[in-house]
Amino acid sequence: MTAPNELDKAPDKRRKKDIFGENVEALQAELAPLHLPKYRAKQIAEWMYQKGAASFAAMTNLPKALREALDDAYMIGQPFVRDRLDSADGLTSKFLFEFADGTAIESVLMRQSYGNSVCVSSQAGCNMGCAFCASTLHGMARNLSAGEMAAQVIAINNRLREEDGGKVDTIVIMGSGEPLMNYDQVLAFIHLLHEPYVLGLGYRNITLSTAGIVPNMLRLADEGIPISLSVSLHAPNQPLREKLMPISKKYPMEDVVRAAKHYADKTKRRVTYEYILIDGVNDTEEHARELAKLLHGQLANVNLIPINPVAERHLLRPSKERIDHFLRSLTMHHIQATVRKEMGTDIHAACGQLRNKHLEA
Ligand code: SAH
Repeated sequence: MTAPNELDKAPDKRRKKDIFGENVEALQAELAPLHLPKYRAKQIAEWMYQKGAASFAAMTNLPKALREALDDAYMIGQPFVRDRLDSADGLTSKFLFEFADGTAIESVLMRQSYGNSVCVSSQAGCNMGCAFCASTLHGMARNLSAGEMAAQVIAINNRLREEDGGKVDTIVIMGSGEPLMNYDQVLAFIHLLHEPYVLGLGYRNITLSTAGIVPNMLRLADEGIPISLSVSLHAPNQPLREKLMPISKKYPMEDVVRAAKHYADKTKRRVTYEYILIDGVNDTEEHARELAKLLHGQLANVNLIPINPVAERHLLRPSKERIDHFLRSLTMHHIQATVRKEMGTDIHAACGQLRNKHLEA
């Protein structure tokens, strides 16, 4: 994408409309004045989303005159890769993408045993204010558009294809930002990825993680798309959760759990509760018992996440023994639980850490 200072030198480019992120119906409507056959919009979409075309000139199955007409009026917005870090084991790659307005965001590629997973950011920064999280340290700059979320996935998919013929298999909307505070764009993004002319991703291969925006959790349950829902719980009672997650004052824990239960009932999908383990804060036997009681009888499992220490926050990871003990307590109380496999700690893969480094540089 063109940097803002280059735009000054090329004023004609300023008038071009960015069509990256539009679905075929929107493209058809956009291109209606050109009186094209319907299949042209699909061809353009396939070039943008599946074949990595960064310009109309590359779309060789379109007539040359059409390519030129498109180039006069439109552009294909693609983020600039400002930084890339690969973990020593080669399994995790972190990308710092920069959009045309200078906004920088992070995405992470994790090469898992079950396929390639991309962790997508839904906002630049975050204003949830969670006590343990790096993404929120600088507040929220802005929401990302559906196209900007898709661009993260497509840019990584293009690289996988070039590097070893691979592709993106699953998406987790778990990067910086609160996706349910950017509801319409996140939904448009999910629908777009599902389209066969984009990645054809199954809804079950898409996970959305929320800090618990209750009204939009209920709305999501009614969308008729069985995506996987993760709920960031992190505490087994309201007073402690309020301390760790200020959003809990607005949407109390019991309402969050009720909304998650509703989601599971409606979609028949098991909800995952994320629970960061923080030394001496939420990791005692008593906390495990409270958590088991809270989730008793739900179609749910708990993902225990030993905290990624964030220097600014002074919160530490419990010992391995304490983590194991917490896990055993939950299992003993018939709660399905796992400890999250750690990936990419050597490359600042925790939420927001690379972006902060960039902002503070
Ligand atoms: N706002 C959404 C999605 C972004 S956070 C949400 O709250 O779920 C994605 C996950 O990363 C959340 O479970 C969050 O709690 C976790 N996370 C944030 N900071 C972390 C840290 N320092 N160590 C481990 N996990 C962290």
